Amino acid sequence: MAKVLVLAGGSVAAIKAPSLLRRLREAGHQVRVAASPAALEFVSELSLATAAGQAPATDRQWFTPVGGALHLELAHWADLIVIAPASAELMAQAALGLAGSLISATLLSTRAPVLWVPAMNPAMWQHPATQGHRQVLAGWGQTFLGPEFGSLGTVGEGEGQGRMAEPNEIVAQVKALLTPQDLAGLRLLVSAGPTREYLDPVRFISNPSSGRMGYAVAQAGRDRGAAVTLVSGPVNLEPPYGVEVIGIESALELRQAMLDRATESDALVMTAAVADYRPETYVRQKVPKGPEALSLKLIRNPDILAELGRRNPRPILVGFAMETEAGRERALAKVREKHLDFICLNFPTQEATPFGGDYNQITLVFPDGKIEELSRMSKLAAADVILDNIQKIWINKQ
Ligand code: C5P
Repeated sequence: MAKVLVLAGGSVAAIKAPSLLRRLREAGHQVRVAASPAALEFVSELSLATAAGQAPATDRQWFTPVGGALHLELAHWADLIVIAPASAELMAQAALGLAGSLISATLLSTRAPVLWVPAMNPAMWQHPATQGHRQVLAGWGQTFLGPEFGSLGTVGEGEGQGRMAEPNEIVAQVKALLTPQDLAGLRLLVSAGPTREYLDPVRFISNPSSGRMGYAVAQAGRDRGAAVTLVSGPVNLEPPYGVEVIGIESALELRQAMLDRATESDALVMTAAVADYRPETYVRQKVPKGPEALSLKLIRNPDILAELGRRNPRPILVGFAMETEAGRERALAKVREKHLDFICLNFPTQEATPFGGDYNQITLVFPDGKIEELSRMSKLAAADVILDNIQKIWINKQ
């Protein structure tokens, strides 16, 4: 994780700076913060200090009594600088190379990547002066996130393009800026979560899949520059920022969504826990309570991966095999039968990697019989290993 310096400029959006600092810390980063005098009109030094774990740097303590220069110290410390909120004033100072404030001097002294998160009145944002400054800064390789369209903080200003991006979007962008973009150009399709097979409008057959593994693959792919589409069953997870999310419920809906998008995908990771069977009949009204015993006739759902495996051309196909016994033999049979590039074998009943947890222990099984056993790791780390293997196959195909 990285050392992230947050520079807060003068805008009502400065009140979001503490929540940004907290989220950056939760994501594992070390943070420091500097605030302009105008920012401190909107947000207190104490709330910034509480969120950052140390007092914010301000123009008041710019030079230390022992001769230290705070702007140089901050500029050298940071792996990445986030200006949030970025005002028109700060953009102008930076684009012109001014160094009359702690923030502008820090920006002039740094060699770290810079992320601008503007927040200002739409008229100020659209002014040719501001747009000219944006072009200069972008021309130096600095990145912009927003401003977004929405209701504006100043009374009577209504709506417009001027809102600061939300802290979770900023954290996602920070992650992407710190990650090598080795999957840029890859179109990645991921399925996640359980399916629901309805008997009637209020009852269904399902399974306890949490969707975490698939969401981790989608997030890791996004961070590495892939264009990601996530087809998701009903789960309790936040849709990952920057990923196209398509909601489905039944296996038949999942099948349709995957078949429709597979042709425009370079790689497909099928983590969804697809119900193998569905009720033969769907009853349109709630089935009333009746006899002591009731039998339910189930019919097989189509095997989506196998269907995709029969296509030619087809994307790189990665499956998951959840087994409780004879794992390797079954996984090898599946990877061959379904014509997959590899399959990720896991054991949801193991104590160290329970269903729905944050950790997984995966064994990759390839059609030629090669086996790569991974140690127990976070689902995000496992997702990166899966994507490393996809990347190798993808490069070889080009
Ligand atoms: O259920 P099975 O062990 O065969 O699942 C192996 C892989 O096939 C998984 O990636 C799963 O998402 C996929 N699958 C599918 N359609 C089904 C059942 C499973 O695509 N009907």
